Amino acid sequence: MVAKLPKTTTFFSSNQNMQSPQTVDNNKNNERKDENNNTENEVACKGPLNEIQEVESLESAMHNNELDSNFESSKRMFQNQYRYYSVKYFQKVMNNGEKCDRKWLMFSTGCVFCYVCKLFSTDYDNVFVKSGFYKWKKAKQTIFGHENSKEHIQCMIKGIEFIKQNTHVDEYMVSQIKREFNYWSAILNRIVAVIHFLAERGLAFRGHNEVIGSSNNGNYLGMLELLTQFDPVLKQHIDTFANKGKGNVNCLSKTICEELIEIMSQKVLTHIITEIKKAKYWGIIVDSTPYISHMAQLSVLFRYYLNGHVYERFFCFLQIKSHDSKSLITDILDLLERYNIDITNCRGQAYDNVSNMSGKYSGLQARLKERSQLAFYIPCAGHSLSLVGQCSVTKCINSINYFGVLQSLYSFFIASTNRWDLLKGNHATLKRLSDTRWSSRSDAFISLVENFDGVHAALCHIAKDTEEKSDIRHEVLCLLNKITKLEFAFMALL
Ligand SMILES: [Zn+2]
Repeated sequence: MVAKLPKTTTFFSSNQNMQSPQTVDNNKNNERKDENNNTENEVACKGPLNEIQEVESLESAMHNNELDSNFESSKRMFQNQYRYYSVKYFQKVMNNGEKCDRKWLMFSTGCVFCYVCKLFSTDYDNVFVKSGFYKWKKAKQTIFGHENSKEHIQCMIKGIEFIKQNTHVDEYMVSQIKREFNYWSAILNRIVAVIHFLAERGLAFRGHNEVIGSSNNGNYLGMLELLTQFDPVLKQHIDTFANKGKGNVNCLSKTICEELIEIMSQKVLTHIITEIKKAKYWGIIVDSTPYISHMAQLSVLFRYYLNGHVYERFFCFLQIKSHDSKSLITDILDLLERYNIDITNCRGQAYDNVSNMSGKYSGLQARLKERSQLAFYIPCAGHSLSLVGQCSVTKCINSINYFGVLQSLYSFFIASTNRWDLLKGNHATLKRLSDTRWSSRSDAFISLVENFDGVHAALCHIAKDTEEKSDIRHEVLCLLNKITKLEFAFMALL
């Protein structure tokens, strides 16, 4: 094999490796100038090796490359000069003169590649991986730079580990896929746990931005960031993948988050439907709820008995076109059909007392009863009681006056932070009345009875304050006059 090779010194000086002598002659006038200017050759030829040693080292260097390779294909024109790949690049000369084979370097189709990086690197844009290197003028620096790059060293380590495992490529690929699978499963487990926590408590997910490290990135990203303080796996993931922008998979984006919420909600819905079908008979509770974007929607709940327990589950929000009963019954029947829930098993329906829902002849309840005769309508007890309370208050002049004073007291103190502080200084507080919740009225007058002395003292203080405006003092005196009457005390204790 050595005999077939040209003398190494001739070979290096002419850079016509693997070419026939004839080719060398034909090109020598215009194609060998690069070697005269290229210091790489000088470095490669340095060292104490004699000619025989050089031939041996050349043979050694080429053991992983075809001796019959035709480097003619490496021919490139640079600044009106032809340059070629040199076989000596297959060797690296150490500072002490020792030569090492660059076994990773592979010549192919007129370029050189790094087959180790091609197998293990994720840097697909690297010239030694993608298209091959061919700028021979800078061959020495570039090849030297590549073999000392972090990526190449890591790939070499991976390659050595791979060889040590003594496994086939498919087994290696399977183990790599398994490792990736385990990694992303671990990340998704953490993300799902955070989504579950927030959804269970009805907390908002998103903030003003989606930047990791920002205090305005919302509860979802904020909680993940918090977990990184105690979870090294999540910390490494966020440190590596966060804030990389679009096109980089990190499973932290709102798209993935919403997709996971959707999957989880479908799972909950499926569970409820299974329970409804298992229970067989069920009741439906419907009330209209304005959406934040001012769209009309119904909140639909199902109530059923299963395994000794009564369950009342929120089912979904149902977008509606109109509030008339004809449109509502169509929407509800469509919903039941969509989830394959049999309307004939409906045994109860509960709505508020609005006529389009409760109407005896054309209300929603009547229309639903046409489909299921045993679906008895029961008006919402809480709503009915609230209506009774509100109605009774507005029919009695004493109660109108009493609750009017209560509201005036609350409005007077809440209008100014100084007044509210004064009230708190007297260890007292007041609560607001509500039109829709009767219980809040009860809370309001219980609060006044329990804090009467404090409220009275605060009012007296303002009434005696000479620096206070006269109309305020007059208002306070009127309130004092009203709350100290026997009728007011009687109503409070009634
Ligand atoms: Zn490499």
